[in-house]
Amino acid sequence: MDALRKCDVLIAGAGPAGLASALYLLKRRPEFGGRIVALDKAAHPRFKVCAGGLIPKTLRALDELGIRLDVPAVDIVKGEARTEVGNVDLSRGDVLCRVIRRDQFDAMLARHARDAGLEIIAHCRVLDVAQNDGGVRVDTDRGPFKTHVLIGADGSGSRVRRAAFDSAKDAVGRALMVDVPVNPELAREFIERRYVFDFRCIAGGISGYCWSFPCLIEGWPHLNLGIYDQLPREDRGSAGEQALMLSQLHKAFPELPLDGLERRTMSWHAFPIRWFQRFDRYASGRVLLAGDAAGVDPLMGEGISCAFEHGKYAAAAVAGFLDGDVEALTKYDDALHRGSIGRKLAILGFAARNFYGRRHRAFFRVASISRRAQEIGVDWYNGAAHLDELPPAALVARWARAVLFGGSVR
Ligand SMILES: Cc1cc2nc3c(=O)[nH]c(=O)nc-3n(C[C@H](O)[C@H](O)[C@H](O)COP(=O)(O)OP(=O)(O)OC[C@H]3O[C@@H](n4cnc5c(N)ncnc54)[C@H](O)[C@@H]3O)c2cc1C
Repeated sequence: MDALRKCDVLIAGAGPAGLASALYLLKRRPEFGGRIVALDKAAHPRFKVCAGGLIPKTLRALDELGIRLDVPAVDIVKGEARTEVGNVDLSRGDVLCRVIRRDQFDAMLARHARDAGLEIIAHCRVLDVAQNDGGVRVDTDRGPFKTHVLIGADGSGSRVRRAAFDSAKDAVGRALMVDVPVNPELAREFIERRYVFDFRCIAGGISGYCWSFPCLIEGWPHLNLGIYDQLPREDRGSAGEQALMLSQLHKAFPELPLDGLERRTMSWHAFPIRWFQRFDRYASGRVLLAGDAAGVDPLMGEGISCAFEHGKYAAAAVAGFLDGDVEALTKYDDALHRGSIGRKLAILGFAARNFYGRRHRAFFRVASISRRAQEIGVDWYNGAAHLDELPPAALVARWARAVLFGGSVR
């Protein structure tokens, strides 16, 4: 395939952001079937370094798209955050999260997108992007493409971002994970269907947390353990950062057989996570960025719900643009900054600066004062009852009412 290939909409990357963009666009405009192409350097099902936690907001997006989650999942109903000033119970009486494996989940999304009319070209790596008045030219290792609009959904190391946008290197965190087989009758995470977040590594120099999620790998119970550092320090060097992350992960879960981590006899995976910055741009001419390529949650590194949210906005923008609205793509940039997703990511950025900053103990102490405030925080984060979409004043009023007078926060 070396001759120039033309299409109306081209999507670089067939992960959740690229596939959600296609699914929302084809739901809105089924007649675009056959006119949208996604390129991916891999082929589904493919491994992706990810803990696979789907928060309720993501589950609602799947409902909206009419997609039933038909891959193995562990439903989490209890949660615990460990901090230096005490533990917080995150349980809310219903499902907090569903833990899937990304190879299966992404392949499921790809199947639905293909059925709706998306063409996916696998083993096709995007190399470069150039724009002119007539459209966008995308060079790949399988030949050139020409498109009216390009959605860059090619992950944290986005080629599209590098080619068409100013790339801020300082907004990339790092996460690493390991899957440990466990006896489900002995592991508390399986017995109680509980996930654990451990923020005590902040005192050890990590701007982030460790986690433990129960999951199923080919039917076998495992714990997915990992650690996220929002601000890896350059002076530690890559090897030093890695060694620190592994030792902090080991320290967070001393009851587990993790000796092999530092000795490298256990296999673990590391991956970057690009996070949202207020001054970044998400549209440049006829090119949009979505998902990790744009930037996701700075506090927790959660990105699947952002991928769906970006996909929804991108679909609206692209449909408007193809209908002749020349401002539609600029409105996408505006929506990602000022819409509910932009507001949420900006608040999470503020939270990250404080909870991972020098006065983190004081912030955790304040956060531990009110159980009601914690509940609303969890619900807001998870998008329960659309709380995260409320304008700031309405959210503060709801929060103040719940804290001062009791009653439901939802
Ligand atoms: C250790 C770890 C744990 C995580 N845990 C969670 C979690 O529990 N819950 C959660 O919500 N988020 C989690 N995340 C974040 C989540 O994985 C991402 O936010 C999410 O995958 C973003 O989706 P995306 O489609 O933007 O990018 P990706 O999932 O990275 O998809 C990008 C796609 O683009 C393709 N691609 C890349 N470069 C090119 C190229 N040049 N040409 C063509 N194709 C290309 C890739 O093959 C891939 O298919 C975690 C991340 C890490 C690293």
